Amino acid sequence: MALIVQKFGGSSLSTVEKIKAVAKRVVTVKRQGHQVIVVVSAMGKTTDELIALAKQVHHQPPGRELDLLLSTGEMVSVALVSMAIEELSEEAEGFPGYFAGIRTDTLHTKARIKRIEPIRIQKELEKGKIVVVAGFQGLSPEDAITTLGRGGSDLTAIALAAILQADRCEIFTDVPGVFTADPNRVPQAKLIPLLSYEEMLEMASTGAKVMQSRAVEFAKKYRVPFTVRATFQEGEGTMVKELDVQEGAVVSSVSLDDKQAKISVFRVPDQPGVAARLFQALGAENINVDMIVQNVGQDNRADISFTVNLIDLEKSLQIAREIATGLGAERVTADEDIAKISIIGIGMMNHPGVAGRMFHALASAGINIEMISTSEIKISCVVRRKQADRAIQAVHREFIESQEREQSRTAPDREVT
Ligand code: ADP
Ligand code: ASP
Ligand code: MG
Repeated sequence: MALIVQKFGGSSLSTVEKIKAVAKRVVTVKRQGHQVIVVVSAMGKTTDELIALAKQVHHQPPGRELDLLLSTGEMVSVALVSMAIEELSEEAEGFPGYFAGIRTDTLHTKARIKRIEPIRIQKELEKGKIVVVAGFQGLSPEDAITTLGRGGSDLTAIALAAILQADRCEIFTDVPGVFTADPNRVPQAKLIPLLSYEEMLEMASTGAKVMQSRAVEFAKKYRVPFTVRATFQEGEGTMVKELDVQEGAVVSSVSLDDKQAKISVFRVPDQPGVAARLFQALGAENINVDMIVQNVGQDNRADISFTVNLIDLEKSLQIAREIATGLGAERVTADEDIAKISIIGIGMMNHPGVAGRMFHALASAGINIEMISTSEIKISCVVRRKQADRAIQAVHREFIESQEREQSRTAPDREVT
């Protein structure tokens, strides 16, 4: 008997038919003699709809009440999936995040898990029940419901698998696994059967929303291997685990983040402490700044541009405007029409010239690069959002499809030797 955690995303639960099919799948595993914990997300686009609803009532919805609202999405799924399991004559016990013992800090809408007390889950499993847990939510020390950031049901699943030392953790979604690029944007994208935590983490944090980056971070820290696979299709999917990757493809995947915005502060004094003031103020509000570019202008004045998640745009703008006024800067602008294209690959470390090739691929497709950032195994470029699809396809062609062509040319030689 194995203990198996299975997470089903919103796209796998968007209709009653899908909920029934998920219940059937879970019951089949249970009847093979396993203990099963099911983690569920809100149905379809419910979370987006709830956010839109809140925004109709408040221009910057307060976190505590927003979390209260958002948590209802997952509650609906827990109740319906549990009922669908019971309908198949198996016993199920549905838990909101707080009954499942998930304790977080007080950072509403992006709370961090502090500890998990899974006693109630364990009790129900021992009774032979299928446990269904609401993903994406926990309870703060102030006894308020918190949520774990967008895509946070992935984190619930990984965290439960870690604390309960599950034998298997499976993330079920609407694509057959993790691909070399979003298969819904790049039809030529290929499934990656095996990935290291590091590569999955870079992919997730550059916009491959198939896994939440915080969930991958957690999996890496507590060494929880997991698979990503399709709910309604056969196939092994992608296994993500600790790999001793010394060498890898120069570029193994391409990702796109179109949920960022650029803020520019024009003509700030070009002197020590200016950047610190701005970014410390943003940090104090828990706003994650991604790319930063500073242009040296004239008369000892500089322009600073940086990107933040769209979700943080309003708050970031407010802070940037306050600081800019204090510094005597000229103006602050926001640009939502951007997208970030990133290439990721362990092999990049040992191969010079990769950045040049990426810039050339974009230039050949007539795409202008507005910002650039690099790390050891990643290069990111900001481009206009309307050019995002063309950009990601051009870069995928340059690095992934050309590698395949290269490999298929050399394969017969390898067989002979
Ligand atoms: P769920 O509702 O199951 O949590 P998500 O919408 O959060 O599903 O994530 C699945 C989606 O992630 C896919 O439909 C796909 O469009 C997108 N995606 C982005 N990048 C990738 C990638 N590299 N591989 C697979 N899917 C990706
Ligand atoms: N329902 C939440 C979201 O849409 C959590 C999740 O899907 O994982 O972000
Ligand atoms: Mg998701």
